[in-house]
Amino acid sequence: MDSTQKISHLALDIGGTLIKLVYFSANGDYSEESRNGCSVVHGKLCFAKFETRKIDDCLEFIRFNILHHSGVQHPNGAAHDKLYVKATGGGAFKFADLFKEKLGILFDKEDEMHSLVGGVNFLLKTVPREAFTYLDGQKEFVEIDHNDLYPYLLVNIGSGVSMIKVDGDGKYERISGTSLGGGTFLGLGKLLTKCKSFDELLELSHHGNNRVIDMLVGDIYGGTDYSKIGLSSTAIASSFGKAISDGKELEDYQPEDVARSLLRMISNNIGQIAYLNALRFGLKRIFFGGFFIRGLEYTMDTISVAVHFWSRGEAKAMFLRHEGFLGALGAFTSYNNQSHNDIKSHQHTVQRAILNCSGDNLRHIPVTSNLDDSETIECSINLV
Ligand code: ADP
Repeated sequence: MDSTQKISHLALDIGGTLIKLVYFSANGDYSEESRNGCSVVHGKLCFAKFETRKIDDCLEFIRFNILHHSGVQHPNGAAHDKLYVKATGGGAFKFADLFKEKLGILFDKEDEMHSLVGGVNFLLKTVPREAFTYLDGQKEFVEIDHNDLYPYLLVNIGSGVSMIKVDGDGKYERISGTSLGGGTFLGLGKLLTKCKSFDELLELSHHGNNRVIDMLVGDIYGGTDYSKIGLSSTAIASSFGKAISDGKELEDYQPEDVARSLLRMISNNIGQIAYLNALRFGLKRIFFGGFFIRGLEYTMDTISVAVHFWSRGEAKAMFLRHEGFLGALGAFTSYNNQSHNDIKSHQHTVQRAILNCSGDNLRHIPVTSNLDDSETIECSINLV
């Protein structure tokens, strides 16, 4: 990053496994254009993520790129007060002292669920081609009618899983969750396959075959379907079930098959619980987010098939391109909520920052691409 770039509005989501960063980087010339009495600064939203256990890397990244100077002065604070940065997730509490000590910034804490919902609503309302379905190897972007967005179910698959019924802007309820989430996949995966990282585990699962270790309906029924109750011979009757009678030790299985089984087990289970909760409240649309998904086709396909199968095609699983940054984006957009005169940036007085991502300004990203940290969203900020 060019250190002369003007950075503002840093927001952090510090989770159990990953730290997510979102910040606004103004275009090189930092041109402010006046529109209806407010200055409009053009630039882009940038994203970065770090493992929480390597928090020093995150601190170094912030220091190196001078992101810690992009906070705002707190309302009622004196001029010499430290800068505040929006932060959400459990780590906003756990690591507040560390950020204060190492970078001299204070956290303006935002509620985690509120931020997740805020992030999804922001994406669905402002970023075109954000939501898509994935079924039978086909990725299809979904046009979201802003007037017909609610209600929906948000399933955030991070270390653990939260299921939130969303009825409107700031109107939501956490209705369910499960502890069998991304952390379970990564934790069990590390123990069972000796993989060192999530990427390694994903790569491994890509080459595996879950049928080697999962007990299928056909294994029990001598190769035939159990058609009377609609179960095909290839349906999984019991995840990891073959290990009971195979007479094998863990070392006798290929790690890629174990990784594949594990990925399938976790994804299937979440898809099923999500569907049951959608059914409980009559919700037809389910948006899946969180860094567990990572745009992986196998994961999305498994979740989609589970939702499609159990709902008999009634409910729809949808995924989000910026799936992992929902909480951080929600914290970022909460800079909007400061009232007149409340925010002062280090460079100029900002009474209210309104994020304005117009469709015209946005880059259209090819359907096949997965988001990585270097991808950005072009947008502008209104300073009124
Ligand atoms: P949290 O806020 O709980 O950290 P995230 O939405 O960041 O949740 O997702 C964390 C999960 O994402 C991990 O448990 C793991 O399954 C998955 N994951 C994706 N990429 C990585 C990565 N590079 N390192 C570790 N876990 C990753």
